[in-house]
Amino acid sequence: MNVANLLLTGAAREPSRPAWTFGGRSATYAQLTDRVARLAAGFSRIGPAPGDRVVLLLPNAPELVEALLAAMWGGFVAVPLNWHLHPQEVAYVLRHCGARAVVVADETEGAVSAFDGEVSVLHVRGAYEGLFGEAPAPLADVGADDPAWLFYTSGTTGRPKGATLTHRNLLAMALNYYADVDRIAPDSVFVHAAPLTHGSGLYLLPALGRGAVNVISTARSFDPADYLSLLAEHRATHAAFMAPTMLKRLLVAGDQANHDLSGLRSIVVGGAPLYRTDLHAAVAAFGPIVTQIYGQGESPMTITVMPPREWERSGSCGRAFVGVQVRIVDADGTELAAGADGEVCVRGDVVMRGYWDDPGATAAAVRRGWLHTGDIGHLDGEGYLHLTDRAKDVIITGGSNVYPREVEEVLLSHPAVCEVAVIGRPDPEWGESVCAFVVPVPGADVDAAELVEHSRGQLASFKKPKEIVFIDALPKSAAGKILKRELRGEPPRR
Ligand code: AMP
Repeated sequence: MNVANLLLTGAAREPSRPAWTFGGRSATYAQLTDRVARLAAGFSRIGPAPGDRVVLLLPNAPELVEALLAAMWGGFVAVPLNWHLHPQEVAYVLRHCGARAVVVADETEGAVSAFDGEVSVLHVRGAYEGLFGEAPAPLADVGADDPAWLFYTSGTTGRPKGATLTHRNLLAMALNYYADVDRIAPDSVFVHAAPLTHGSGLYLLPALGRGAVNVISTARSFDPADYLSLLAEHRATHAAFMAPTMLKRLLVAGDQANHDLSGLRSIVVGGAPLYRTDLHAAVAAFGPIVTQIYGQGESPMTITVMPPREWERSGSCGRAFVGVQVRIVDADGTELAAGADGEVCVRGDVVMRGYWDDPGATAAAVRRGWLHTGDIGHLDGEGYLHLTDRAKDVIITGGSNVYPREVEEVLLSHPAVCEVAVIGRPDPEWGESVCAFVVPVPGADVDAAELVEHSRGQLASFKKPKEIVFIDALPKSAAGKILKRELRGEPPRR
């Protein structure tokens, strides 16, 4: 089944409800369906054939929703890209995926400049609008294993890789959402915080399938004040999906009491570690409505889930979604018993078909049907997953492993610490040493010795930071992930 059928499902239930609102504009489900079907026909007219790639290089906006759905509706492959990418990264992806068309806006038209190949560039205020003259295209008859979305990973080493997500994968993701996150009642209103090219766009699919209203902020990056206002103004039921750093910014802004958030039923957080102190603070501020999810581009939004009622188990990212198997293996691929740390592996209909045009990386990542996530963690006796870290972030000091997450949790339990990121620094004697970058709570007076002392009380001596660097803000991606590679001084990817 074509996953864009979810739009038809929502439109059949709620034809005259707004499918999206953006500033003062909105479109009903009936209008969005008509635009999507016409745009799919328009794409065909200018070149792309079914299976061809249509790149979407847009900030959050209604055109991103339309073009994403239209690409899948027409049987093309949508390639939504983070609009902050460097022109050379954009050029790499356009070449790598063999793009036939790229949709741009004012903010991104310059980013295609480094690409010297052939591609139709469609500006949302130009050629793009000219594509709507055609009669609506029927929903394309695709195979379940045909690609629908190339999700270029924010991989921290080497070139970005395109996780090839099929119609089956995305439908499985939506069904898992309904099963384990929320069924989405007919009166639901989602407010999107994160980029629609990433998690929020993936969760747009289950929201559309139920006829929910999708509120898109006009802010060009996440802004806590704007976000709280939108939640109140639209009587939001769902904070769609946010990175833990976005949740943290809402908490630091501390303005929720000045907004009527009584309709809010769900905040979904994931994409990076959700620290205990932050989850506890979120429950105190918003009530027990936080769902934590763990997923990755290769298994979109769907590996484990921790429902709101179990928030007191903070520290774990929950149990496997209903349609997913999770197991932990050692370096030889042997399954480990509960309690033992190893690589997290995943199997199920949600796991990607492979990486686009990269058989070597695919063979390394998907072995006998199991996706090797590159994340390290263990399952406890009740099946809850405790993630420690990305394998490449583990610090090896004097031959012992230090998981940055453990050190970060301890530092965050100090009242003067607002945010923290722990990395390994090259060390001539120990191989690597533990270094913590700390953003202090505004106005707090704390020094490195005090934080080291605080760690000494809770961590083995070899794990406590050898160096503490105070910093005003941590480097973060558009999706809100802390960029440890920048803290390590590694050059940006090109
Ligand atoms: P991406 O492919 O950009 O979505 O990044 C996926 C990676 O983010 C995962 O492989 C994990 O390392 C990390 N991640 C996602 N969700 C969580 C979570 N709930 N807790 C800790 N790390 C997470």
